[in-house]
Amino acid sequence: MGAGILEERKESILVKDHCSGNGKGIQCETQSVSGAVSQRACVYCGARVVLNPITDAYHIVHGPIGCASYTWDIRGSLSSGSDIYRNSFSTDLRELDVIFGGEKKLTAAIDEIVALHKPKLIFVYATCIVGVIGDDIEAVCKAASTKYNLCVIPIKAPGFSGTKTLGYKMACNAIMEVIKPHVQAGQIKKGINILGDFNLAGEMWIIKNYFDKIGVKVVSTITGDASYDTLIQASTAELNIVQCAGSSTYLATRMEEELNIPYIKVSFFGVEDTTSSLLRVAQAVGDAETLARTETFVQEQSKIAQEFLEKYKRNFIGKKAAIYVGGGFKAISLIRQFNEMGIKTVVVGTQTGKKEDYDIIESLVEDDTVILDDTNPAELEKFMKEKEADILVGGVKERPLAYKLGIAFCDHNHERKHALGGYEGVINFTQEVNLTMNSPVWRYL
Ligand code: SF4
Repeated sequence: MGAGILEERKESILVKDHCSGNGKGIQCETQSVSGAVSQRACVYCGARVVLNPITDAYHIVHGPIGCASYTWDIRGSLSSGSDIYRNSFSTDLRELDVIFGGEKKLTAAIDEIVALHKPKLIFVYATCIVGVIGDDIEAVCKAASTKYNLCVIPIKAPGFSGTKTLGYKMACNAIMEVIKPHVQAGQIKKGINILGDFNLAGEMWIIKNYFDKIGVKVVSTITGDASYDTLIQASTAELNIVQCAGSSTYLATRMEEELNIPYIKVSFFGVEDTTSSLLRVAQAVGDAETLARTETFVQEQSKIAQEFLEKYKRNFIGKKAAIYVGGGFKAISLIRQFNEMGIKTVVVGTQTGKKEDYDIIESLVEDDTVILDDTNPAELEKFMKEKEADILVGGVKERPLAYKLGIAFCDHNHERKHALGGYEGVINFTQEVNLTMNSPVWRYL
């Protein structure tokens, strides 16, 4: 595999060829290797990324102020109602709190929020130092819940306690704590919940609009543009559809087991995935009329998106893409979407992909494609240079790397400000990839 790759990382890198790998597939779902600067965020960030889009929730970060810098300002989730989630609250633990404990400070922070804002829902995140000093945030939250008859949910998420995936799981458990007290026996189930879409640049609204057009009721959105009042209705849906599988499959599994709501995995990135997802939902919950309406709708929309795409295809001839994103579902959709555009994927990786995701990825890419789990800038640089990628699709942490290497970049993460989901997203993505990849600036490097 060559210089610059740590020995312990070699099993997490797969080069697809006729006899690729050691027969066991890529190593994934493990802790990051010491010495490799992982592109992954911490456990706390994993929990926060899932819960932050709940628009009227109060997020108290119990820890030093640095952890609280992870705010709405660096995320792109939008709201049709409350904008409380755009604020960050922190107990701002200092040295004396670390020595004497921070429980009183946390109690005071909850009391202050209740007095000033009359919240319906509070999440309390314990970050690294709280995991070390052992503040009993469960007891503090329970006392506050009882005192104020309010949903105050502790999330014990010190960054060192696992990977970002553990943070996702904690967020899913927290959502179940919101939903479960409102489950009633004999509830009539109708409509769907959309899981794992965070309303980045209004994508949830685009998808909800499609369901409105085809006549499928959306009960709860989890968590893009969610509110406490909509979340507590989630148990009345007949089907969960899961977009970001990495963050939300665990929640879907719990809802299936405990609330009897089955789920299907979907994706609204690219023409092919958007069309097949809408059809599968219509088949699952709709009648013959709904299905017919959906078929007409996807035919019309695909035609518009495909015709648009065709006009740009000549600009993409011979171009090669590198993909590094959070979860496997997005990587899979992006490979398909690049295929639709006539762009070859030469490097592809994820922060939290699972074995089954990597099996699909391997089946979709051509020989010699480099597949990476939990990579680092050094590896990304090496493989993007070797494979002569023309564009990197990633998030905020990958952007500087691409620009330093003189490679075009497209942001497909939570901080972006324009929609890439649905048929509208196909048009935006095509335009953005074309603009950045074919910019004259690259000629002056
Ligand atoms: S690793 Fe620990 S200290 Fe750093 S942001 Fe995450 S929780 Fe906070």
